[in-house]
Amino acid sequence: MARYRGSVCRICRRENMKLFLKGDRCFSSKCAFDRRGYAPGQHGQRRRGKPSDYGIQLREKQKVKNTYGLSEKQFRLFFQKSDRKKGITGTNLLVLLERRLDNVVYRLGFTNSRTQGRHFVRHNHFLINGKRVNIPSFLVKVGDTVEVAEKSRKVQAIIDSLDAVVRRGMPQWLGVEKEKFKGEIKSFPVREDLTLPMQEQLIVELYSK
Ligand code: SF4
Repeated sequence: MARYRGSVCRICRRENMKLFLKGDRCFSSKCAFDRRGYAPGQHGQRRRGKPSDYGIQLREKQKVKNTYGLSEKQFRLFFQKSDRKKGITGTNLLVLLERRLDNVVYRLGFTNSRTQGRHFVRHNHFLINGKRVNIPSFLVKVGDTVEVAEKSRKVQAIIDSLDAVVRRGMPQWLGVEKEKFKGEIKSFPVREDLTLPMQEQLIVELYSK
């Protein structure tokens, strides 16, 4: 199934929590979840029945998949990759997702959402270790530098995002020099760095059926 292309605010309302998918708007009074904190659609205001175990697992998978803006196929490939690695599969999955370049440029504050991160990566705005990389799923490594290309340092959306990054906070595994438009991967993220409430073991259970 292709990546979801509808209104991202509906995802927050469906998952019954703010997932911060829309940049500055998420922190403003225009946030759709703050204004209408019930499920989208004609029957959204009906009482939700008790979900089945499968329903709970499915919702958790959808939440994580949509937070990172992936299609089902891409997400499953990430899951298979994390399953082949040593350690806890669920944690491996989240760490791999965090290492995606579209997520890293968002975390570093160069873009105001992962969606914008994906667009800007595709449009050649970033260099990894001095070389242009335009693949959103590129996985960064410890010691890599991520830099805004010289000609892109005048892009107003990047300047505005860097100004607003204070509100989101910088994860410990990343470092940024705002005035140089440059960031560094200091370490891989650990589970504690991922602050959105995600129960990754439910995804493992879902895919293990
Ligand atoms: Fe979710 Fe942000 Fe939309 Fe609010 S504004 S519903 S947090 S995507």
